[in-house]
Amino acid sequence: MLGDIVERCRERNVLKIFNTAGSFEENFKVLKTASAFNGIVYPVLGLSPHSVDLADLDLKLEEVLKLIDKERPAAIGEIGLDFHFDYDKEAQLKVFESQLQLAQTLDIPVVVHSRDAERECLQKMVDFKVRGVFHFFLVPDLVDEVKGKFLISLPTIKSKRREKIIKKMGLEGVVCETDSPFAWSGVNEPCNVVEVYDKLASTLHLSSEVVQEKVMANVKSFFRV
Ligand SMILES: [Zn+2]
Repeated sequence: MLGDIVERCRERNVLKIFNTAGSFEENFKVLKTASAFNGIVYPVLGLSPHSVDLADLDLKLEEVLKLIDKERPAAIGEIGLDFHFDYDKEAQLKVFESQLQLAQTLDIPVVVHSRDAERECLQKMVDFKVRGVFHFFLVPDLVDEVKGKFLISLPTIKSKRREKIIKKMGLEGVVCETDSPFAWSGVNEPCNVVEVYDKLASTLHLSSEVVQEKVMANVKSFFRV
């Protein structure tokens, strides 16, 4: 099953997959998958803002920080702030800041979830001087402030805001994602990322090959893989 997913990526020339922990438990799954598909699947470890409801949050955070220090993943994520839902803001800030601090210390980039908290996340990323990518970013009004400082990851979601961002960003500082299994009619999977390449290509009047090559170059220099 996982092997089939990776194979479909290879068939479409999608050769770097960043498998990101979305919950405490997923950190361990992510590590297993990355070691099973070494060289194509990379681990992204972290404690997301949706984890602040955990009863033993401090212990879990400590465990994740230790795991990151030991494993040195490709990135720390997804971490950030989510003001869309009613998660405790103070707890979110504590969890985010302690992982930003570790990212700075270890010089590992961060994959940031910033739903309805984009400006707050941006400020924290600037404060901690990290290398960062805004995942699932759809705020055209903030592009000018992000551009040149952080990367933007465009999702597989057809939206006018995505198109506006593409026009403002061009290919510089852009990477592509699926947010699998979300953001698709049905279950999303990593090979569908070619939809974003095609959208970049049609919007910028470039070939999909040129887009894919530049995005890969962005990925390699950002994640250092
Ligand atoms: Zn997210």
